Amino acid sequence: MKASVDSDRCAGHGDCVSTCGEVFGWTADGFAEVILDDIPDEYKDLVVKAVHDCPEHAISAEG
Ligand code: SF4
Repeated sequence: MKASVDSDRCAGHGDCVSTCGEVFGWTADGFAEVILDDIPDEYKDLVVKAVHDCPEHAISAEG
């Protein structure tokens, strides 16, 4: 699985980092970023949850 955060949409609420801190981290500017290029299967469900729960619809994932 691959995921990305649209930096134009992210408002830095941090829900995704709370949901799955193994995949989502913070940029120096206080926005979210994906910290794993290739997301292991064990995190897929949490990434899907993060996609659905992001208040700004800033996260996309596929694979
Ligand atoms: S949940 Fe969405 S808006 Fe909030 S930090 Fe994560 S990507 Fe950004």
